[in-house]
This record gives sequence, structure tokens and C-alpha cells, in this order.
Amino acid sequence: MATIIDGNAVAAVVRERAAREAGELLARGVRPCLAVVLVGDDPASASYVRMKERDCEAVGIESRDHRLAGSTTQADLDALIDRLNGDPSVHGILVQMPLPKHLDAESVIERIAPAKDVDGFHPESLGLLVRGLPGFRACTPAGVMEMLKAYGIDPTGMRAVVVGRSVIVGKPMALMLMETNATVTVCHSRTRDLAAVCREADLLVAAIGRPKMITAEYVKPGAVVIDVGINRTGEGMVGDVDFAGVEPVASAISPVPGGVGPMTRAMLMVNTVAAAAGAAG
Ligand code: NDP
Repeated sequence: MATIIDGNAVAAVVRERAAREAGELLARGVRPCLAVVLVGDDPASASYVRMKERDCEAVGIESRDHRLAGSTTQADLDALIDRLNGDPSVHGILVQMPLPKHLDAESVIERIAPAKDVDGFHPESLGLLVRGLPGFRACTPAGVMEMLKAYGIDPTGMRAVVVGRSVIVGKPMALMLMETNATVTVCHSRTRDLAAVCREADLLVAAIGRPKMITAEYVKPGAVVIDVGINRTGEGMVGDVDFAGVEPVASAISPVPGGVGPMTRAMLMVNTVAAAAGAAG
């Protein structure tokens, strides 16, 4: 029987820590503030934004809602980002992705002032991660690292396999695991014999976006399995890991829902409080 890695429980502890730090800042006259930008009316995005705003309230962060019509132009969105960049009362800027297709997400990410890049997607933040220097870390992989720490799982010397090489999850995840002394392999859609590579992993991270793709045959007995996937299917939200099949094989496993998802949100709070602390000096 695997240990179930409870993301909700770890996220609650992380949020409490962020709330304490937010309280200390408030005592110094600084109220951490996150500007949340939502373009269009995608229901999943709207629900993510609502959850983030609830988290802000719980932690003592002011959230400022900027809802723009789906027809918003690039110039209007750019102008809003510029305004938020220049507003000293705003410490973090979050632009909910995906943006409508006519908008250039890459240029929006690059437009956000690096000091307010609480999502950790700006090239400067990613560069700092590559260099092993302090900076904003992408929330999802940072959340995975916090979960591992909370369960006493030290990646040092482990053979880690990350399936997925996106800029928001797979790549920064691999770098963070490398930074904590794992030996890391990154897999993707062109990897040959994926199951065999995954079976070598002491620590397997699935960030693919394919419901229940990682079955027991991909998992070495006793491995730690982290499921980043969020897939909405007829049977509700499921991860990239076939939980029922893999749980008996793994030593520890994160569920979906209740695993990495809550951690991602908690790390956004951590980054926002850190941004406010940075601005407060
Ligand atoms: P992307 O679509 O950007 O990347 C998916 C990666 O998986 C790509 O590198 C792709 O390879 C690889 N891949 C796709 N199919 C296969 C396959 N058959 N075999 C091996 N590799 C494959 O997704 P994201 O990284 O943004 O997200 C991954 C998952 O994590 C999604 O389910 C997403 O919803 C979820 N997610 C969850 C978060 C959370 O808070 N829990 C936050 C962010 C994402 P290639 O590069 O070759 O195309």
C-alpha cells in the first residue's frame, strides 16, 4: 500500500506559512497584492481564477480582478500589463492562460515585470532557475518539490524520470530535481519505449495531459509517483496516472484531485508574498 501524498494537507501548511509572512508585511504597512487578469469567458479559466482569489483571501493577499472581454486587443492587454507593472501597490501579476488565440501569450509573459512574475514563466525567472539563483519558481514544479519535502522524500541520488517537457511543468521540474541532486531523464512524445524508461525511475513525474496513461507497467515497484495531469473526462477529473493500477506498486503516490493542483495554487501565494517582501525591501 502506497503512502498517499495529500496535496490539500501540505498546501494548507504552505498557505499558513504564507499567511504568517503576509501578516508580518501588513504590520509593516505593506498589503501583498496580486493582480489577476482573465481574458474571455472560458469556464475552466474562470474557475481557476475564482479559486486563486479565494486562496488570496485566506492568506491575507489583496486580489485585484481584471476581467477583459474575449475580443480585447493585444494593445489593450499590453496597456493593462504596463499599468500594473508601474503600480507600486501591485506586487504580483497573473495572466490566466490560455489566452484567446488572437493574443500573443509569449509577448504578454515577457511584458510582465520580472519582479512581479509570480507565475515564474518569464524568461528571466527561468534563467535564474537554470543558473541556480534565487528567483520566482514556476508554481507547479515548485509545489511538487514542497510535497516531496513534506513527506521526507529526498531526491538526492534518485533516478528521476519526468514525462513532459513543457516550459511551465516538465522543463522546470527537471531542473528543480537536478538542483536537488536527482539524476534526471526527461521524456516526451518522441521517447522510444517510454514504459521501459519510466520503469527505471525511483521518482516518476507525469506531466503529459493524457488521462491515466501511466499504468502499472510504467512503474518500478517502490517508486514514488507524482501525477501532475489534470484531465476532464466523462468520469470527472483524472490525472495522467492510472491511480487504481499504480497505487499497489508505488511506495508513495499523489492523487488527482487533491495532489499537485492545490500545491500549485499554494505556491502562487508563496510567490506573491515573496514579491511583496521584495518590494518592501
Ligand atoms: P503540454 O501539453 O504543454 O505538454 C505535454 C508534454 O507531454 C509534452 O512535452 C509532450 O511531448 C508530452 N507528451 C504528450 N503525449 C505524450 C505521449 N504519448 N508520450 C510521452 N509524452 C507525451 O502540457 P503541460 O505541461 O502544460 O501540462 C501537462 C499536464 O499537467 C496537463 O494535464 C495539464 O492540465 C496538467 N497541469 C496541471 C497543473 C496542476 O496544477 N496540477 C498545472 C499545469 C498543468 P512533446 O513535447 O513531444 O509534444
